[in-house]
Amino acid sequence: MSKPAKTLPYVLGQEQEKKDEYKRVLTETIEAITASVTDEGAYQGASVETLQQSLAEFAILPSQGIGWEALLERVKQIILPHFLKTWSPNYMAHLHSPALLESIASELIIATFNQSMDSWDQSPIATEVEVAVVQQLCNLYGYGKESDGVFTSGGSQSNLSAITMARDWYCSSKLNHDVKKEGLPASYHKLRLYTSEVSHFSMEKSAHLLGLGYDAVRKVPVDDLCRMDVQELRGMIESDKQAGLLPFCVVATIGTTDYGSIDRVEAIRTICDEEGMFLHADAAYGSGLQLSPTYRTRLGDLSLCDSITVDFHKMFLLPISCGAILVKNKEHFSVFTLHADYLNREEDEEEGYTNLVGKSLQTTRRADALKVWMAFQCRGKDGYEKIVDTCIENATFLAKALLAHPSFTLAIEPELSSVVFRHIGTSELNKRIRKELLHHHQVVIGQTVYKHKTYLKFTLLNPTITKEHLSELIALIDTLANELQQ
Ligand SMILES: *Cc1c(COP(=O)(O)O)cnc(C)c1O
Repeated sequence: MSKPAKTLPYVLGQEQEKKDEYKRVLTETIEAITASVTDEGAYQGASVETLQQSLAEFAILPSQGIGWEALLERVKQIILPHFLKTWSPNYMAHLHSPALLESIASELIIATFNQSMDSWDQSPIATEVEVAVVQQLCNLYGYGKESDGVFTSGGSQSNLSAITMARDWYCSSKLNHDVKKEGLPASYHKLRLYTSEVSHFSMEKSAHLLGLGYDAVRKVPVDDLCRMDVQELRGMIESDKQAGLLPFCVVATIGTTDYGSIDRVEAIRTICDEEGMFLHADAAYGSGLQLSPTYRTRLGDLSLCDSITVDFHKMFLLPISCGAILVKNKEHFSVFTLHADYLNREEDEEEGYTNLVGKSLQTTRRADALKVWMAFQCRGKDGYEKIVDTCIENATFLAKALLAHPSFTLAIEPELSSVVFRHIGTSELNKRIRKELLHHHQVVIGQTVYKHKTYLKFTLLNPTITKEHLSELIALIDTLANELQQ
């Protein structure tokens, strides 16, 4: 008769047995993960139906627990083989990076101690880490003493936070109306936000959530390099004002999701100053370039912006989720401040305890700043410079190689690490190339639409990708295209 499976202790504790079990569970998990990595493939290719069927075999909430050993077996069988391998040199579909090794250690610490960033008594050292990291970040992007920031779940939440601040600031300073207390002003439907036609969809989502609606988002046409056309911006603001509308904010995209193109903040700042508008920089993608002395001038002077979205789970190669919103004038954070007797009493702050909940849309929040604190020290400026420069140089190399190849055309010259291109065949052929790669070659690349045609996209965030490998991939795509066209 087999012995019943040992039940796992609930939680870690100071007893040796609990520590041993903690180590065993994690060690066995690490063994299972490393054993599941057997090749360079990004995805082993299973179809939607196969995955759904393998999951349907087991009750997710069985009446009796199956215990750790049986669970791990099941994970090894039906989960791990089908995970996308973000570290694979064959993965380049999205702005979705592999995670630096030391940052996986950070995640283990974060999960084990499970601190919550809302109040100091739930995250003593983690609160101080976030405060110190935010200071370093403000400094990195050229902000002064009045600045501040907070970690977020990523770019979308950072943008929502910034646009909330912009709306409330405008209503209070220009319309003498307190949105926080009274809700939207009567003229709310006249508020207008300007962003380029290739900006991220979190602009529309934010406008909806903030009670302004999609129509409040004015999409400014872009120039040949997919950057906001500043003359068009000026013209749109002018005609909107003449129509009695209320332009309150411009969001400059510092690295568009598809092209990596960078709006020019200097020129946009001038317009915002003339018009009395808030300027937010959505640098979810481009923020990493600040760590490259060679390429950072491409970003322009982000310190001219009233707020900056920084994403660490893109160019900084940290695990999801990890982002921040930085603001030049910390008073804007008062939009999110509310005191509760059970959480963040006003007297705490007088006594020197920082309760970060006062700056955040979230209440319970992960200690994500630890990942930045650890990776920054582990890699240093020189280490990050190498990571960022490698990705930029790979993109430059790939763009040149595609331009020189008779079968391909390039959408635009890359400024960051995304390369948008197409095979000269039909849009249908380009779509089939991507699916072929996904299901039969373990290669996962992106797809988008540029000037009404389907394009393919390599988003190069992985510094282990080599130029030789990129050349091989171009050759593979060319061969596939010839086969598919026969
Ligand atoms: C990725 C991205 C976002 C959204 O960030 P998340 O972290 O995915 O929420 C916003 N803006 C731009 C330009 C992006 O590339």
